[in-house]
Amino acid sequence: MSVHGPAPFAPSAPLKLFNSLTRQLEAFQPVHAGEARVYSCGPTVYNYPHIGNMRAYVFADILGRTLSFKGLKLTHVINITDVGHLTDDADDGEDKMEKMAKAQAQSIWDIAQHFTQAYWEDVKALNIRQPARWTIATEYVPQMIAFAEKIAAKHCYELDSGLYFDVSTVADYGRLARAQTEDGEGRIEAVECKRNAADFAIWRKTPPGEKRQMEWDSPWGKGAPGWHLECSVMSGEVLGFPFDIHTGGIDHREIHHPNEIAQNQAFCCTNGLDLPANSGARVWMHNNFLVERSGKMSKSSGEFLRLQLLIDKGYSPLAYRLMCLQAHYRSELEFSWDGLAAALTRLKRMLIAVQQLKDRIPLRTGEGDHPQDGGGAPSLAEPVPGPRFTPFLERFDAAVSDDLNTPVALTVFEEVLALKKVDASEKLAALAAMDAVLGLGLLTLDRKALRLKPKGVEIEETEIESALEARKEARAAKDFARSDALRDELVAKGVEVMDGDPLGWEWKLV
Ligand code: AMP
Ligand code: ZN
Repeated sequence: MSVHGPAPFAPSAPLKLFNSLTRQLEAFQPVHAGEARVYSCGPTVYNYPHIGNMRAYVFADILGRTLSFKGLKLTHVINITDVGHLTDDADDGEDKMEKMAKAQAQSIWDIAQHFTQAYWEDVKALNIRQPARWTIATEYVPQMIAFAEKIAAKHCYELDSGLYFDVSTVADYGRLARAQTEDGEGRIEAVECKRNAADFAIWRKTPPGEKRQMEWDSPWGKGAPGWHLECSVMSGEVLGFPFDIHTGGIDHREIHHPNEIAQNQAFCCTNGLDLPANSGARVWMHNNFLVERSGKMSKSSGEFLRLQLLIDKGYSPLAYRLMCLQAHYRSELEFSWDGLAAALTRLKRMLIAVQQLKDRIPLRTGEGDHPQDGGGAPSLAEPVPGPRFTPFLERFDAAVSDDLNTPVALTVFEEVLALKKVDASEKLAALAAMDAVLGLGLLTLDRKALRLKPKGVEIEETEIESALEARKEARAAKDFARSDALRDELVAKGVEVMDGDPLGWEWKLV
């Protein structure tokens, strides 16, 4: 900001978020003034994440970026579940990690490392900002045992298979899911002798005569922590109870989060859920699912929709990010290749407009130092958007403050992109401020990043460019036979020539 220049835009719309606990939009009230502490349930690293899983982290990222945009100091934690998540969320089946390790004949630790790395690559490719802390479940086992010891006497009972949480010992159990304690949906009584069908293991004992790859000593014998215990412990340890927001996919609203809430109530010695702070987190937010027309997204059946598959087919991961942003996070989103292709075209259009704008601005010293996370907010030396842009920034602010309405925010971004006869530097600053929330990285993105080479296409870009150059010369010389032959050769190599493409894209790989 120059000393005499306009003041930077200060977002002032009241932030309203949908709290699954009350099923209402609520004004956001930070627990600690000026701060926002957020915990997101992370992946179980027994397999690659599918793009549905990644929708959950794009949502958490938009939430975090919005909180930062609103001037709050964000502390975001995402966990990595490397132990304890069973094949059935309702406490039944095998440990997902143990099962995969057996199937692959590998150590669980290697499996966890491999899939954590793969998940982090997807996080990076989708421009999801790094949280303040990744908490790895196996690094918190002593704290989990201490937590369980604190609540055991009043809230738990021991069976041969483990230490169980008695859900009748806390008020309002299952309110988040709107389920009855005894016969909530999906609450199958898998373990004999449980006092209530919904009771769940917070410590799973290793059966006599068995040895698990991952097991720890505890007051209840050798075993491993329950999945729900992990998230209660990691969120409370790092963020402190109560913290502001807990996120996850909508499936977690049914079992995992009600169980976390019950444990948090027990640990904090709080009663009913009429006071939101009694649940451990004040606000519980859930993204809806990405679905396939054929049904539920699955890692085991049909075409496994990993981000890498999209890349192999030539789609930038950011086209998928945009696809997520085009829907409200609480709406179901149906995945289709056509939808993805349309998102890619929209992204290309935006990118070209940003590039044309940048071409109109003389280079300043320090240009190119933009932070990686999508251009970031303008630095002190950079221009700020003047009053001409204020109404747009206000509408953008109102959209994201209205329970993260990214579909509307995107249209405001495009309206600014289309503005004519305005100062180019200021316009770029306005776009940068908005992209700091959208996270599409449009201010730093290279055109090439949107033209990925589909798997199986061998041709190099230099070859394409020189063939196109030769074709231009042939056309200039009216040698149409040669120009057609060159085009046909490119087609045979998987390159479609796009004469007169309105976006100025001369070719694409098919
Ligand atoms: P998991 O690794 O199974 O624990 O899932 C990681 C995250 O993805 C959780 O927050 C889930 O709720 C979420 N999730 C799972 N499937 C989908 C889906 N199809 N669409 C959106 N989110 C999902
Ligand atoms: Zn969790």
